[in-house]
Amino acid sequence: MNIENRGTVRVENGRYRFNGKFHYAYPNNPIRNEDGKLMGVTNPRDVTHVHMYGGEAPFFEGLGKGKLLGTRCINPDCDANGSIFIPFRIHCPDCLSKNEIVDMTGTAQKGATVHTFMITERTGAFNTLPKPIRFVNVEFEGVPTILMGNLAIGEPKIGMKVVPIFNTVNPTYTILDLSWVPAGTDESELPEGFTFG
Ligand SMILES: [Zn+2]
Repeated sequence: MNIENRGTVRVENGRYRFNGKFHYAYPNNPIRNEDGKLMGVTNPRDVTHVHMYGGEAPFFEGLGKGKLLGTRCINPDCDANGSIFIPFRIHCPDCLSKNEIVDMTGTAQKGATVHTFMITERTGAFNTLPKPIRFVNVEFEGVPTILMGNLAIGEPKIGMKVVPIFNTVNPTYTILDLSWVPAGTDESELPEGFTFG
């Protein structure tokens, strides 16, 4: 199948500029029952999904540079004023005003804590993490929200100290650029492409 001219997107003057092809149809196959009777067809499709980050773009750009960004409500009239949010929230959930970006890398590197965890063998489509996946809910000092993450090394335990690692060598600009390891892990043990920031 020819998939030349795969679609790419750039933004110029605030407008999306699409280039190339975003949909490819592949030859189909019949679906038959035990007697050979036609029941239907498979329809292989290859679609390039365009995922815009909007106000969350700084978070994903930050990961590849070894930074964990959160946000903070700066509205003096809001009860949540000063609250820091990780995951990154563009707007305060209490007053809906635009949050300010705060660099939480240092706080996370001093040691975040595993609030709870979950280990799964079954994953969604297109999973690229090694299985079983050790999902950890990470809690930060002074932060009222909890971040879901992937523990890349070791076995999770409630209360264990973890630090962030970042795919700074060849970033994907997705959440896969962020992972967690037990505090005290040596840099030489990190997965390929990952650094402490
Ligand atoms: Zn607020």
